[in-house]
Amino acid sequence: MSLLNISCKKAAYLISKKEQGKINLFDRVTLSMHLSICSLCKLFEEQTGLIIRNTKHTHTEEKLPEEVKERIVEKILEEK
Ligand SMILES: [Zn+2]
Repeated sequence: MSLLNISCKKAAYLISKKEQGKINLFDRVTLSMHLSICSLCKLFEEQTGLIIRNTKHTHTEEKLPEEVKERIVEKILEEK
């Protein structure tokens, strides 16, 4: 039973693996067990899925966080 009782950190890791299509059957079962008892991770899974689906149709620039974008702009400006 303790094998199926995973932490939220592990669940988040499994969610990202699942989104990449790299999850095995055991991990898939473990994850679904966790998602059935943890609403926070369920929300995270839904959001991760949404983000991935959305970024497939947007430009690379648009999925970068503002902070990262600013850093890139600063670097570009420095080199000029
Ligand atoms: Zn959780």
